[in-house]
Amino acid sequence: MKDIKSLTLSQLKEEMTALGEKPFRAGQIYKWLHVKLVSSFDEMTDLSAALREKLSSEYEITDLKKLEVQISKDDGTRKYLFELSDGNTVESVLMRYHHGNSVCISSQVGCRMGCKFCASTIGGCIRSLEPSEMLDQIYKITNDINERVSNVVVMGMGEPMDNFDNLIRFITLVTDENGLNISQRNITVSTCGLVPEIRKLADLHLSITLAISLHAGTDEKRKALMPIANKYSLSELTDACSYYFKETGRRLTFEYALIAGVNDKPKDADEIAALARKVSAHVNLIPVNPVTETGFKPTSGRETNAFKQALEQRGVNSTVRREMGRDIDGACGQLRKRKLDEK
Ligand code: SAH
Repeated sequence: MKDIKSLTLSQLKEEMTALGEKPFRAGQIYKWLHVKLVSSFDEMTDLSAALREKLSSEYEITDLKKLEVQISKDDGTRKYLFELSDGNTVESVLMRYHHGNSVCISSQVGCRMGCKFCASTIGGCIRSLEPSEMLDQIYKITNDINERVSNVVVMGMGEPMDNFDNLIRFITLVTDENGLNISQRNITVSTCGLVPEIRKLADLHLSITLAISLHAGTDEKRKALMPIANKYSLSELTDACSYYFKETGRRLTFEYALIAGVNDKPKDADEIAALARKVSAHVNLIPVNPVTETGFKPTSGRETNAFKQALEQRGVNSTVRREMGRDIDGACGQLRKRKLDEK
């Protein structure tokens, strides 16, 4: 069965023509799927029963099962555990800000990048998500809270650049004016630094924000934390970042998880500042979320502020990320992992 929610409107028009239907049917179906967010053909009441029947025999509508929601008492952050149609599970997070609702989605079941501080990668990568399955996380949460989602960050489980084509299709669908119509500017994609894909993304000239998970300022230190650093050096990575900025005009961000005694010294600030200046990046600082298996401890609030000041003195702006949902398995992959461990 074909996955109808992963089709763009023009692909859906072609499909309808091939089925001997009028192309305008595609517009109706697309609206049911991507605006009214229904999960069955039966709900598409402006289609004939015969057409609904035909569609159900040709296509499936992917749907997620809400297995668990944790709601933070501190800030209203909600962490969802969803079950996919094949029984695998993924995590998504809703963060409520003054400027709107932001959803952090997963792009893969697990991850194969192997970062030492990350819970999502502990069991490896089981599979990549389809465009529809990335959309479903946003759609399910929209229906759950009955409010519009205005921002999307692809920062949950998985490496989005390791699922490049589906990621791009997802962005096309979620920004489509006939669908949820989220602005490209309100989409952030985070990568551990797959250099060829960063360049490929730059060539598409989208207006999305690219976040680079940096976490160390020398190749040697980065290799100790992130296996991808063995494949691409920092100089290759920052060249790709400059290329991205040149091609899209979009300022990049560096994600930097502060780990006590590992990457939080003045010398680290020095190195990071030089890299950030080289590509005009903004730095997001976040004390590392402790994950039992990793043994890493977060840098204290005082030292985090000192690190921020050190960057500032070197002409680099940074933001200390509010740690949202600390009381609810906040770090990516933790909720899913706890559930799998329980089984
Ligand atoms: N694979 C992509 C996106 C998913 S990870 C990437 O690497 O960017 C989302 C962000 O969370 C990345 O910046 C990642 O490095 C960071 N992260 C992972 N585990 C973390 C932890 N325990 N504490 C703080 N940040 C973490």
